Amino acid sequence: MLKIKPKTVFTRSIQWRLMIILMLITLILMSVIWVFLNFQVESIFYSDFKDGIESKYNALGIDESSTDLNKLLNTLQTNPLVAGVILGEDKSYTIIDKKTGEIRYSSDLAYQADKIQFRNDIFKSENLLAVMSSTAASGENQSYTRSKNGDFYDYVRSQTLSDGEYILFFKYSRAKALMVLDKFNNIIFWGMISAVAAAIVIGYILSRTITGPIHDIMRKAEKITDGEFGYALEVRSEDELGKLAKTFNYMSFRLKSMLTEIISEKKKIETVLNYMTDGIIAYNREGQVIHINPAAQNILDSQVSENTSFDEFMQLLGIALTSQQIQQEQFIQDTSHRIQYGEKYLKVQLATFTGEDNHIDGIITVLQDITEEQKLEKMRREFVANVSHELRTPLTSVKSYTETLLDGALQDPATAEHFLGVINDETDRMTRLVKDLLTISQHDGGIKLNLEDVSISDLTTNCVERMKREAQNKGQELKLIIKQNIPIIKADRYRIDQLIINIIENAIKYTPERGRITVQLSCEKGNVVIMVEDNGIGIPEQDVGRIFERFYRVDKARSRQMGGTGLGLAIAKEIAVLHGGNIFAKSKLGRGTQIFIELPMKKWQQAL
Ligand code: ADP
Repeated sequence: MLKIKPKTVFTRSIQWRLMIILMLITLILMSVIWVFLNFQVESIFYSDFKDGIESKYNALGIDESSTDLNKLLNTLQTNPLVAGVILGEDKSYTIIDKKTGEIRYSSDLAYQADKIQFRNDIFKSENLLAVMSSTAASGENQSYTRSKNGDFYDYVRSQTLSDGEYILFFKYSRAKALMVLDKFNNIIFWGMISAVAAAIVIGYILSRTITGPIHDIMRKAEKITDGEFGYALEVRSEDELGKLAKTFNYMSFRLKSMLTEIISEKKKIETVLNYMTDGIIAYNREGQVIHINPAAQNILDSQVSENTSFDEFMQLLGIALTSQQIQQEQFIQDTSHRIQYGEKYLKVQLATFTGEDNHIDGIITVLQDITEEQKLEKMRREFVANVSHELRTPLTSVKSYTETLLDGALQDPATAEHFLGVINDETDRMTRLVKDLLTISQHDGGIKLNLEDVSISDLTTNCVERMKREAQNKGQELKLIIKQNIPIIKADRYRIDQLIINIIENAIKYTPERGRITVQLSCEKGNVVIMVEDNGIGIPEQDVGRIFERFYRVDKARSRQMGGTGLGLAIAKEIAVLHGGNIFAKSKLGRGTQIFIELPMKKWQQAL
């Protein structure tokens, strides 16, 4: 049986996938939070910076008409309101002439250190560029500007004074924000690591509650494939998995009963196929043997094996048919064949069976050994021919003698008497023949033996006594020898009597005058043996085995002359066989014949 055991690769398991999904969800969530918080922190920083400047600067209440640049600078440097808000260790302000773009003042230390570099840096600011080009009155874009001396946020506004138009550039170093963000990110990073670790652990535990029952089902399914149905799954919950376990148990139960049913059906069919007398060979679509029963092997004398294809088999039987032809035509034209197979006669029947697609799936051949049937048919035909022949001969002579008598032979009393004597003999022969035929027909119809306790020695003595006169008529010596004490056996007295008389009659018939006939009784190997021996004409060796056949006679003319019907020994054999015994002959041509009748003692009695 082909066994497929699924290999559990952890990376392909549901458990692994669930863990990965949970981990990814956690990772994505944390990343979103991270980005959001980063943005939020920067936003807070910038808002704080910008709002502080706006409120404090507005609170200065600068009068455009009476304030010039020097006054403004003075206010900014001295007014305590702005200290810390626009000026601080990481904050500075720069005043630029809007018209010329010249830096008129800067509190920034970087300006003191390198004026050109400072100017290059601040002129990268989008806010400053927007206000310079007058596209906006103030620049409050949160995005920071990168510079060699450190990234910075800026807030820009234009200010008209009495001596010209100026731009106030407020700068706020991003270093502090970055420091806070760094700490913040550090916390988030470790938070993320812990969250992912927690997700893995929770995912593992959670997925186990799902995959645990699935593993149980898997193990049970494996057991079922091995033919073990004895284990039921434990139903631990009422959820989908619980229902799955219940359904699985039910399925396993149904599968078991179906399998038992199938196995029993299969066994039944196998037994039928193995013990049936008809040979069965089944072939698949490709013409290969699927099944061959012992009867088929027996009928075909083991000439066909499981490796013999349908085509080879048909060739062997002499039937012009191939599996390809059947597949093409999708039917078999001649389904029944009678063929001669060596010494045997076989009836071969062919049938197809179809699969789900209604196409021929295979061929079944049924073989019947009809040799016996054929033999019986031949025998029946011969029997009818023999009977007609046996009756026609005496009838012809009766007819011809009667005609001769009617034609005037009656006038001659001596001839008439002779002719009437012949007619009488022929009629006697016909009567005997009809009597024998009746007995045979009774046997064929299945007679019931009238069994009783019979003393074979008494019965044989009686037969010999009755036949003594006939023997004496031929000057023959007829004697009986009883070698030992012969037990009483169960037998049909009338038929055994008929059998013994028949054999003694034959001995007298086929032994010349003054011959010697001995009837001898003995017990041998559980049988009562009646042996009738004569020193008559004997039987040729090739005929000895056939004299028990119906109408078989060694010398037809002689037998007929002796008034024989050719049925006596056939009837004798049937009687012996009906008693569970046997009859056979030993003979030497010209020296004499021995006929042995065996009647079982014990076996026969036990069977009764
Ligand atoms: P039939 O009526 O011709 O005697 P049976 O069936 O009794 O027919 O015998 C068949 C044949 O067997 C006989 O025709 C005869 O040729 C041969 N036969 C039978 N018994 C003897 C015998 N004792 N000696 C020689 N031949 C015998």
